[in-house]
Amino acid sequence: MTAPNTGKLDTPLGILGGGQLGRMTLQAASTLGISVVIGDGKPGSPAGRMAQGEVIFNGGWDDDAAIAEIARLAPVITLENEFVDAGVLEKLERAGATVLPSPDCVRTVQDKFKQKSAMLDFGAPVPEFRAVNDPEDLQAIGDELGWPIVLKAKRDGYDGYGNRKLDSASEAGAACESLGWPDRELFVEQFVPFERELAVIIVRGRDGQIITYPVVETRQDPELHICRVVIAPANISAELSDHVAGVARTAVESVGGTGTFGVELFQLKDGRVLVNELAPRPHNSGHYSIEGCVTSQFENHVRAVLGLPMGDPSLREGAAVMVNLLGHGGDMPDHAQYTAALSVPGIHLHNYGKDESRFGRKMGHITACGPSADEAHDRAQRAADRIRM
Ligand code: ADP
Repeated sequence: MTAPNTGKLDTPLGILGGGQLGRMTLQAASTLGISVVIGDGKPGSPAGRMAQGEVIFNGGWDDDAAIAEIARLAPVITLENEFVDAGVLEKLERAGATVLPSPDCVRTVQDKFKQKSAMLDFGAPVPEFRAVNDPEDLQAIGDELGWPIVLKAKRDGYDGYGNRKLDSASEAGAACESLGWPDRELFVEQFVPFERELAVIIVRGRDGQIITYPVVETRQDPELHICRVVIAPANISAELSDHVAGVARTAVESVGGTGTFGVELFQLKDGRVLVNELAPRPHNSGHYSIEGCVTSQFENHVRAVLGLPMGDPSLREGAAVMVNLLGHGGDMPDHAQYTAALSVPGIHLHNYGKDESRFGRKMGHITACGPSADEAHDRAQRAADRIRM
């Protein structure tokens, strides 16, 4: 007897992490009829609330009972953040799950120093960087690379938490301590006087096939170091765009990535391009692709990790612009604010459904698509200015 046809792909997808990236991946999977199990530290996360199944990891990711349970429910498991230790991912594999991106890849990417070393060895251009064992090392490193320098935590940094810019060695001790040294390992990068920040979403299939989204410009808040706006496509020449796309592909290949990767880059005045960092997951710089591209970064992530053919990453129209809705730390928007924002024609509002607003926290985003980036930016920003998350 054959199994009843449920109209579903019979491979439930597991996702570690129930934040907005897990939620948007789940939404793309659901459209394809693929069920999703979310693993998170708490029940009722933004993605967990929408999932067919939730597995709760008590007291951290290294929870053996939860590892066994999600591996039993989901033969393929992916992640929405790079902070799950690679050792936990290996336990999931031993429990029988296929984990993509692989534990080895995540081990390399989750340590920014290892990640940069892998890119350098593979021929992807990166800023000069040096290991730091002690705050006293910073004088010599700064003198060699030139001041200012950027001190970074090797692991667990996000949205600029985990970085300090130093103008002189006199700040070394305090800066190292503020980043958690000696418990946390640090390294130093040259300060890159970039002209612009660019990003590219790359998706690599299980068979190594790669697709490349348009090169976008990302604009960060100068104080918060958090991305405010993404403009697709970046206003750069076709030649530079091809070069950037090639560098981004090399960066993802250097770590053996599978699935969607966000690649952040610096464009320098002299025309050079350096990779800032990689994220082994769908990325904020690719949210515009939900409405802006033929196939979104989330759908292509699902397709890639499940071994399905990947879809067309090209823009549907001339441009798409995304504006992040960063938390202000107060009340959530009321009906009047939703009404005002949604009155702007043709915009797409995404509210991640987080239960609490915190200052600078990514609470949602707005995308507008149109023939020109200026016009789309104007509409997306107008809507964003009307809603306080
Ligand atoms: P996070 O992982 O916390 O997002 P990043 O290392 O990507 O941190 O840095 C956040 C922002 O800080 C970057 O987008 C860029 O604006 C700035 N930045 C990071 N590294 C450098 C550098 N070496 N030179 C100049 N600016 C930098």
